[in-house]
Amino acid sequence: MDQCVCVERELEKVLHKFLMYGQHCDRSLEELLHYVSGLRQELSNTGHLDSQLSATLSLVMSQCCKKIKDTVQKLALDHKDIHGSVSKVGKAIDRESGICIDLCQKEPFLELNRILEALRVRDLRPALEWAMAKRERLLALNSTLEFKLHRLYFISLLTGGVINQIEALEYAKNFQPFAHQHQRDIQVLMGSLVYLRHGIANSPYLHLLDSNQWADICDIFTRDACALLGLSVESPLSVSFSAGCLALPVLLNIKAVIEQRQCTGIWSQKDELPIEIELGKKCWYHSVFACPILRQQATQSNPPMKLICGHVISRDALNKLINGGKLKCPYCPMEQAPSDAKQIYF
Ligand SMILES: [Zn+2]
Repeated sequence: MDQCVCVERELEKVLHKFLMYGQHCDRSLEELLHYVSGLRQELSNTGHLDSQLSATLSLVMSQCCKKIKDTVQKLALDHKDIHGSVSKVGKAIDRESGICIDLCQKEPFLELNRILEALRVRDLRPALEWAMAKRERLLALNSTLEFKLHRLYFISLLTGGVINQIEALEYAKNFQPFAHQHQRDIQVLMGSLVYLRHGIANSPYLHLLDSNQWADICDIFTRDACALLGLSVESPLSVSFSAGCLALPVLLNIKAVIEQRQCTGIWSQKDELPIEIELGKKCWYHSVFACPILRQQATQSNPPMKLICGHVISRDALNKLINGGKLKCPYCPMEQAPSDAKQIYF
């Protein structure tokens, strides 16, 4: 309980800061608006909006711009300050929960963060080393990460101009394992070499310099690295939370219908929802088996069973289909002994 009080105290501090910040923000913006509209009034009073401003007025105008800039900067800085207090709450929870996480469990995440930090400052080497070491596993995921990292490295050589020409040509060898999958991209990259002397920025290949690619590569790296660790990019808590947000309205509707029709017996099985709710592909993390006979998802107590003909049904369905100690497959009418069926695992 004491631990909760400690965390709560930190939380109070953050909430207080937020409140103060909100009020301060409102006040500053209000003042600024007042000042700017006063100035506008003054300008319209002079009546010659398109003629040249007097020296005094133009001085006032530039002071006004400075004031706006300063206020915005100050507000941004204050907002940043709150981040410190928020992270203190997290630290308080870590400290008070008394959970020690072994360094070897943290290590993969620390490594990924180091690589990501480097990517953010456009240092591709750590990410390239990581991706090359894990090439097989990444390709099995259909990942384009390694190719895209090589591509960006190549582009960074291009920006150096003609002095990097030989190095760029040499580096192009790294595209070889991806030639089949990314043929078109590689052709574009090689084509850009023609404009090296001229400068890529003044060429039809200007799009190669798009800075959004750097944000994209960070996202691709995070997603693929998490996939290799068998994790979703979002935390399990946030995934459960958003799944709940999607499912809740549908469940509330069903609840209302059940109550209206007074058929409360429908929701009998504790580990199963009364209806299927589609959460979209991004919420798929593992395969599920739904019995084609009973139209129910398999569970630990009712697992999928493979018959000797190769058809798969749930154990409950299998038991229901036994007739005189024999089982007839509902798909191909092959007769077999129920004991020949084997449980399968997803
Ligand atoms: Zn069969």
